[in-house]
Amino acid sequence: MEIVDNKVASVFSASREYPGDHFVFATGHSAYDTYRMLMKYGGRFRIKNFAIGSRVEHSQILINKAQWGVEQLPGVKAAEYRLTGRSGELPVYTFCMCPGGKIVPAAAFEKTNIVNGMSLYKRNGTFANAAVVAAVNLTNLLKKEIEAEEAMEWVEKLEESFYSFTRGYSAPFCSIRNFMDRKGSTPAPETSYPMGLTEAPLWEMLPPGIAESISASLKDFSGKIKGYETGIIMGLESKTSSPIQAVRENGSRLTGFGNLYMIGEGSGYSGGIISSAVEGVKTAMEIIEKS
Ligand SMILES: Cc1cc2nc3c(=O)[nH]c(=O)nc-3n(C[C@H](O)[C@H](O)[C@H](O)COP(=O)(O)OP(=O)(O)OC[C@H]3O[C@@H](n4cnc5c(N)ncnc54)[C@H](O)[C@@H]3O)c2cc1C
Repeated sequence: MEIVDNKVASVFSASREYPGDHFVFATGHSAYDTYRMLMKYGGRFRIKNFAIGSRVEHSQILINKAQWGVEQLPGVKAAEYRLTGRSGELPVYTFCMCPGGKIVPAAAFEKTNIVNGMSLYKRNGTFANAAVVAAVNLTNLLKKEIEAEEAMEWVEKLEESFYSFTRGYSAPFCSIRNFMDRKGSTPAPETSYPMGLTEAPLWEMLPPGIAESISASLKDFSGKIKGYETGIIMGLESKTSSPIQAVRENGSRLTGFGNLYMIGEGSGYSGGIISSAVEGVKTAMEIIEKS
């Protein structure tokens, strides 16, 4: 970036320069390279509460039977669920449950191993998956004050440790029952995950505090959905929400810059498609009013 009097004059890509009057950064919350670049120029960020955990997978028929009592209902696509648990130290909840969906790799950078989930419109896949994540305040979890850069490093190290474990992009996995018992091994079952599975003591790979809380909540969930404990749990779900938040003023302008707007999920103020899109609309209106 070229900065003149606290205003961005130009940004540069690998191939060219982009001069402009206003600059809107909507780079998503995986763009740690952009966060670090902005920090280098004096952009301020603080930590915020976020969620982290793994993803569970069951056969969709098991979920249909548990929720409806039958394997299929005419005219209805696939059963869903939404669960919360408070049996551990941290609150745990299911997130982005994908009926008839698939688990997908979600790493934005090489040598990091992250999973996410999605359903196609027909929701007619064999499997049901959901993130099972713990709500985390890093200062409380690590019992010390944490800066934004340290929060990013903490998440990155975890993402790299999952990559190191499998030496690639296959997902470390175990059965939900083994995760709850914190022992045992499971032969690799069928999965929707395209990069394959590697058996792992997942309960040891998630950070202390988080693993215990997820384990306690999985026990709760198994009491709510019949057969829940027969599913598998896999991978690192580290991108449900941003661990850091931009310090902004007068709407979405990044503090310290006269014409740089930090918006969308990367700003740490929105989560999901709609709220991120709304940030874009509001910022466009903010810029039009100023111009
Ligand atoms: C598998 C999956 C399923 C999801 N399902 C849902 C769902 O059902 N409902 C829902 O509400 N949300 C869902 N989400 C979350 C949703 O995708 C995000 O909340 C939303 O896309 C955030 O929008 P955004 O515009 O802030 O960032 P993004 O959509 O992440 O867009 C950021 C863009 O910036 C680009 N970028 C980053 N760095 C640079 C750079 N240096 N230079 C140029 N470009 C750059 C990125 O390549 C990307 O295209 C899902 C996410 C995933 C991964």
